[in-house]
Amino acid sequence: MRDLSAELLAWYDTHAREMPWRVAPADRKAGVLPDPYAVWMSEVMLQQTTVAAVRDYHRKFMTVWPTVRDLAAADDADVMAAWAGLGYYARARNLLKCARAVVADYDGVFPDTYAELLKLPGIGPYTAAAVAAIAFDRPETVVDGNVERVMARLYDIHAPLPGSKAELTARAAELTPQTRPGDYAQAVMDLGATICTPRSPACGICPWRDDCAARIAGTAAELPKKTPKKKTPTRFGIVYVARRTDGAWLLETRPETGLLGGMLGWPGSEWGDNPEPQPPFAADWRELTEEARHTFTHFHLRLKIMVARTGPATQPLRGEFLSQAKFNPTALPTAMRKVFDLASVTLRDD
Ligand code: SF4
Repeated sequence: MRDLSAELLAWYDTHAREMPWRVAPADRKAGVLPDPYAVWMSEVMLQQTTVAAVRDYHRKFMTVWPTVRDLAAADDADVMAAWAGLGYYARARNLLKCARAVVADYDGVFPDTYAELLKLPGIGPYTAAAVAAIAFDRPETVVDGNVERVMARLYDIHAPLPGSKAELTARAAELTPQTRPGDYAQAVMDLGATICTPRSPACGICPWRDDCAARIAGTAAELPKKTPKKKTPTRFGIVYVARRTDGAWLLETRPETGLLGGMLGWPGSEWGDNPEPQPPFAADWRELTEEARHTFTHFHLRLKIMVARTGPATQPLRGEFLSQAKFNPTALPTAMRKVFDLASVTLRDD
């Protein structure tokens, strides 16, 4: 077998995708170093999210908080609001915790090894490997879904995921070079994202086509195999959207722990099979005919929406009224934004 990593790096030299946090291979060779802060932020944002969705958020965060010290000093609510729409909100809370730990424990300088990075809050094995490789050119093996797919095909591995993870990681590790490991990590991910795509891999223009066992066997499109998932359950909830006669909206900051923790939302019930009504104050609540639906990683959510208008003297049991001027619907996480979009038709300004 030829030197696969060298072949892939040669391909990457001309085909690397442009990303706001990435140093292009030619610049990297000329001595330009990546900004570890920008790389770390991209990796946290990219967990469970596509590059296309992350680009604008990354630009926004780097503009508002250009250094890790700026981010560490930011208000939690501002960061949560800036993250709104990107999903998986625990990542935003961890982003802040990690920035503060880098400032407090490492004097604002990101540690440059896998082992030290792994000690930081919110950095698991994948992110530690990715940051060590991409930001510090350490020969760590970075395995995401793209890399798993490419390895399964390159070696024609038919054992299904997630059981085959260890074998695919071992194969990826064998290929990780000592020279330019950072570029190599990004090159395999780019290959998986642009050429060795899930449905119809473009084997004809792939730098690994002559060595790829699945291409030769004609099995590429059916790999990687996956163990079938269980059916996604549905949970139900009730949310209460109240508007005061002066235009203010009743909102609450959700508890730190749990889904959408620390984010702005509408008061409501627990989410489960049969939620108990929990109105935040007594009123003539009216049920909307349409419910809000949203899908999280492990379940579908269906929210029944109750709306009410109320007077200036109302004292809610939870949450607080935010004036129309202070309320920014884009600061809501997507599930709560969907509720707003439906409820605001009924509760719009007269
Ligand atoms: S030859 Fe085809 S299946 Fe094999 S790695 Fe390249 S794109 Fe993927």
